[in-house]
This record gives sequence, C-alpha cells and structure tokens, in this order.
Amino acid sequence: MTNAPEFAGVWTLAEARDEKISSVSFEVLAWGKDLADKLGVKLASVILGHNLKDKLEELAYHGADLIYAVDHPNLEHFAPDSYSRVLVNLVSEFSPEIFIASATTYGRTIMPVLAATVHTGLTADCTGLDIEAETRLLIQTRPAIGGNVMATIKTPNHRPQMATVRPKSRRPLPRDESRRADIIWRDYPEEDTRSKVRFIEFIADETLEMPLQEADIVVAGGKGMRDGRNFRHIYELAQCLNGAAGASRSAVDIGWITYPHQIGLSGKTVNPRLYVGIGISGAVQHLAGMSSADTIIAINTDPDASIFRVADIGAVGDALQIVPELIRKIRLRSASSEGSLAAEGGNHSDVL
Ligand code: FAD
Repeated sequence: MTNAPEFAGVWTLAEARDEKISSVSFEVLAWGKDLADKLGVKLASVILGHNLKDKLEELAYHGADLIYAVDHPNLEHFAPDSYSRVLVNLVSEFSPEIFIASATTYGRTIMPVLAATVHTGLTADCTGLDIEAETRLLIQTRPAIGGNVMATIKTPNHRPQMATVRPKSRRPLPRDESRRADIIWRDYPEEDTRSKVRFIEFIADETLEMPLQEADIVVAGGKGMRDGRNFRHIYELAQCLNGAAGASRSAVDIGWITYPHQIGLSGKTVNPRLYVGIGISGAVQHLAGMSSADTIIAINTDPDASIFRVADIGAVGDALQIVPELIRKIRLRSASSEGSLAAEGGNHSDVL
C-alpha cells in the first residue's frame, strides 16, 4: 500500500493462546502508546482467536483505545495461512499508519507474510521505535552488521510502517481498570478463516527449570567461569535465589550450557528485577539482552570490564571464590530465618 493521508492509527498485535491473552500483547501496547501519543492518534490492539469476548477488557486496561477483534472457532489455534488472510483483510479495510508486533513465533511468522502481501516494509527485532517530529515517520532502530552499528530505518512510501520488537524488551503499562476501549468486531468469509494446518498439540519447552524470560531473578555466567563444571555455581545461585540460569554466548558456544539459556542479541531478552552477571565482560551484544533489568550486579576480575558501566553493584574479584561464598551465606541466612520462623511456629516461605 502506498502512503496516503487517510492512513491513521497505531496498531499492535495481541496474542491469545488457550483463550487467554498473552502478556506480550500488553508489552507491544506499551511500545505503541508512546508512538500514538506523539502522533496524537488512537492506539489499537488487534486480536484473532476464539471465545475472546470476556477477555478483551484487559487490552483496554493496558492502554488500547480501540480493539479490532475477529472471533471464530476456526481461529482457535494460530495458523499462518488463515491468520494472515484475516489480518490482510483487516489492514486493507482499516489502513493503519503503523503496525507493530512482538517478535514471538506468531509475530515473526505472520508479520512478514502480511508485509509482503500488502507491499510494505518490515523491520524485525527493533530495539527502539520513535516518531520523527518533522515527517511523522516511524523511526525503527535495530542492531545491524553483527551488532556493531545501530541502523535507523524508515518506511517513507508505503503503509503500514511495520516492525517487530523483542518479547520482554518493554514492561506493560500499569493495569488501569478505569480505562475503556471501543471494540470493533469483524467477520470475514468462512474460507478466509480455514487453514490447511491441523493443530494437534502444544508441547511446552521444558528444558529450562524456570523459563528465563519469566524469571524475576536471572543469574548468568560467562567465559570467566573458566570451566563448564564451574557452571554448577551458576545453577546453584540461581536456585537459591529462586531465579533462572542464563549465560553469555561464549559460554554457550564452548558448550558449558545450552542455547536456550543464552542472553543477548542472538539469544533471549530478559527484563528481570535482578540480573547477576558473573564472569561476563559486557559486550554490546550481551547488553542488548539484559540492560533493562531493574538492578544489575556484576562480578568480574577486571575492574575495567564493560559490564561495570551498566551495573548498579559491582564486585571486582574471582567469581570462583565469591560465588560459592555467596551461596553459603544465602543458605545460612535462609536456614536461620527458617529456624526462627519455625521457633515462632509460623508458616513461611524462604526469606533472603
Ligand atoms: P569474555 O568476553 O571472554 O569475558 C569473560 C569475562 O570474564 C572477562 O570480562 C574477564 O575479566 C572475566 N573473568 C575471567 N575470569 C574471571 C573470574 N575468575 N571471575 C570473574 N570474572 C572473570 N554474546 C552474548 O552474550 N549474547 C549474544 O546473544 C551474542 N550475540 C552475538 C551476535 C553477534 C552477531 C556477534 C558478533 C556476537 C555476539 N555475542 C553475543 C558475542 C559477544 O560479542 C561476546 O563475545 C560475548 O558476549 C563474550 O562472552 P563473555 O563475556 O562470557 O566472555
């Protein structure tokens, strides 16, 4: 679609699974809100699925002014062919100015098909989105050339301007139950909702004890752990903090830990309350995946390591001495708090 004045509104793609709205839907709304406010237009959430009716208010509570919903039994499970046909119908009918989605399997699959079908561009995995004041164009920023430069991309001639952003790269807006949204229900021809793909079963990845991107606390190890066997300290510290174990790409490449644990540009983005980086230098590609953590603690022998530039608390020293001692102290402390609570006869959970 070519640029024309009637294009309007910022759209975000919501996701539903098992008749529940996924949290990434609220994260993209947070990205979209800044853009819609700068343009002075409405912020919309687009959702496809089945039995959605009584769940849509959550999208309003998290920032949507408008909700475009297509509810059909054939759309109960995500399928690239039927979902893309329905999205093409919606985009053709309503002509959004901007359309952003999370770079989940859903977003990564559907957005390129949509962009190609409506003849526009798509910037995948953006780390920043903004509006250019003079032109009102979407500024799409993403790492390029192996993460060594940040590329700024614009789509001046075609609409919608489309981008994906990484899951967990933004916190949802605070939930506000007083917010309301207009809901636009759409029906499209039955054949558009039919897929050639038959859904059999959803199998969750259980290789991670705790999903890295859901964890409030992430303990990540790097090449400074010196040996794969020393990664037991990373797992142990993660476990006693009730967190998840992560890693740098170097540690993954050597084979000390598996790829699902990798944090960074070519791994996962995490957004925990606490990130502890141990024996990690802080290369830009690693920082791309963790620098939005609320609190960052770094342990490194090199006082000039780049990770200290983003750390709130830094410990200069040998991780192989510091971490076992830290684990010992945490365990002692939780044992003594268990003891004192047991003496008081109360129910309790671990207190660090
Ligand atoms: P090093 O850079 O080797 O750092 C090890 C650190 O440990 C050093 O700072 C050292 O001082 C410290 N140290 C040594 N011994 C100890 C000790 N006993 N106690 C405490 N500290 C110690 N990297 C990622 O992490 N994630 C990615 O997703 C990613 N994607 C990439 C994508 C591309 C296209 C490219 C080109 C690179 C990517 N990288 C990624 C690699 C990145 O550039 C770095 O090479 C990598 O992050 C370095 O890992 P590291 O910090 O564990 O190792």
